Amino acid sequence: MPFDRIFLDELSARNDIVEIVSQYVQLKKSGANYFGLCPFHNEKTGSFSVSPDKQIFHCFGCGAGGGVITFIMKAEGLTFPDAVRYLAERAGMQIPEQGEAERKAARHRERLYALCRDAGRYYYDTLWRPENRTAQQYFINRGLSRRTMNRFGLGYAPDSFHALIDAMTAKGYTREELMDAGLVSRSEKGHIYDRFRNRVMFPIIDVRGHVIAFGGRVLDDSKPKYLNSPETPIFHKSRNLFALNLSKSTKNDYFILAEGYMDVIALHQAGFDSAVASLGTSLTEEQARIIARHTDRIVISYDADGAGQAAAQRAIDILKKCDLQVKVLRIPGAKDPDEFIKARGADAFRNLIERSEDHNAFRIEQIAAKYDLEDDEARVLFLRDAARMFAGIESTIEREVYAGRAAKMAGVTAEAMNVEVRRELGIQRKRRKAAERREIRSPVGLAQPKDRSLAYTDMKSAKAEENVLRLLFSDQKLIAVAEKDLQPAWFSAPVLRKIYERVLELNRNDQMVDVLSFEGWLEPNEMSLLSAILEPGIPAGEHRGELQEYINTIRMQRVKDGTITQAGEDPLLTFGRIKKQNAGGQTI
Ligand SMILES: [Zn+2]
Repeated sequence: MPFDRIFLDELSARNDIVEIVSQYVQLKKSGANYFGLCPFHNEKTGSFSVSPDKQIFHCFGCGAGGGVITFIMKAEGLTFPDAVRYLAERAGMQIPEQGEAERKAARHRERLYALCRDAGRYYYDTLWRPENRTAQQYFINRGLSRRTMNRFGLGYAPDSFHALIDAMTAKGYTREELMDAGLVSRSEKGHIYDRFRNRVMFPIIDVRGHVIAFGGRVLDDSKPKYLNSPETPIFHKSRNLFALNLSKSTKNDYFILAEGYMDVIALHQAGFDSAVASLGTSLTEEQARIIARHTDRIVISYDADGAGQAAAQRAIDILKKCDLQVKVLRIPGAKDPDEFIKARGADAFRNLIERSEDHNAFRIEQIAAKYDLEDDEARVLFLRDAARMFAGIESTIEREVYAGRAAKMAGVTAEAMNVEVRRELGIQRKRRKAAERREIRSPVGLAQPKDRSLAYTDMKSAKAEENVLRLLFSDQKLIAVAEKDLQPAWFSAPVLRKIYERVLELNRNDQMVDVLSFEGWLEPNEMSLLSAILEPGIPAGEHRGELQEYINTIRMQRVKDGTITQAGEDPLLTFGRIKKQNAGGQTI
């Protein structure tokens, strides 16, 4: 762990989780816990709980959970060290001396931030040199005002292999730093040269205002049209959005998701100051979650071409997962928002946004485009396909509206369409029921982790493993018992085994076993699972017997699947022997 435990204890003592969460969520006390509306998913009834005793939060709806640091990581979109810094600053605490390696890494990051800032400054200054009229003209031709160019810090990288290297080394930056910031490339012979040459430059700025990377566009039609910084210690494509540093303070109650830098800049200039773009890749789930922290509504405004529409389709799926209300803008007679605003003006564009359609309408058209609706057979297939999609819409009214629309498109009666939708609903209901039955039938009636990537393969064993962990967290004295009788290799769920191994290690080193010692160490989804496990709590009392029962259950499962075999003994015999011992209440 990058931070010393004594410091983290102090940090957590000075940042009570109830107090911190209250700044984002209205909490009401009920019993020992507090409840409110989850800030990480859209809900009308509060399923978000905060436990002051355990200093954890847990959402029964979306499964999010963790300690106070995880909460800040999620709420503010920060990395673990940055969330720690944030909380330390808030409590007026000094960040302690860290280990030499961490100190070095932190210093290195600070150098890279400074370097990117200086490089941005250099590109900006270069743009306005008289000899670079062509580059200035590029932005002017795109209709950008000087004010907009300054606001976005636009610049120009000259047509040279070493202009930036010279300028930055003169400022005292090393070649390694230039390499690590992604500003230069290395040739096969090992020489470094400017990565961006003869390109107009778009600085990428994080929410905290640091320049962290660049996008560069050619002035003509040469390839590649756009070149972006690679991933660096300060730049993670999937975790940043272009112009979020500006859009986060918008007064609009919606965000606009555009396709490229120029679209975003044109939108901001036209007064749409909540436009953002993903960075040269398709939208990621992380980016969608970041957007959902700032707004409930998003309007996708991608290019009208096939690639743009396909990207919109993917973006819908990702954004819906974050419970965002998604609309899709259709831009008549123009290839992108920039072109439309230039031709028709900002008010016309505002109208488009207001009239933009729910993503369902967009989907129907996408489905319809796959079929030739003049052809009878194709029409039937279209209705099936559309019905499958409608069955997924929760609101009955919405479902009927769109089903009616699809019926019209295919030239069939609304009734025919409804029959198809009802059939599809029936199929999906049956599927859900079967899944529920499977869950009830499982001996312990437990739930899979919310995150599918952590799915349990052996439910009976996993439930016992969860229970073991809950006990060990509640009473550290039990850890020695577990260590003696339960081998980590017997855990069926890799994530639970990983937690168990760390519990043993912490205990061996005489360290506290609590959520705090796992923050920043577990991945966020694993952290959510751990808080889900710990949430129920345990009544005071003696739990040795209980622990032993869970350990026996895990052992039995391992004997059954052949993980545990007694040397030379028939597995069936081992099984029977342990079963007998269990029945006798003996420990084995
Ligand atoms: Zn939630």
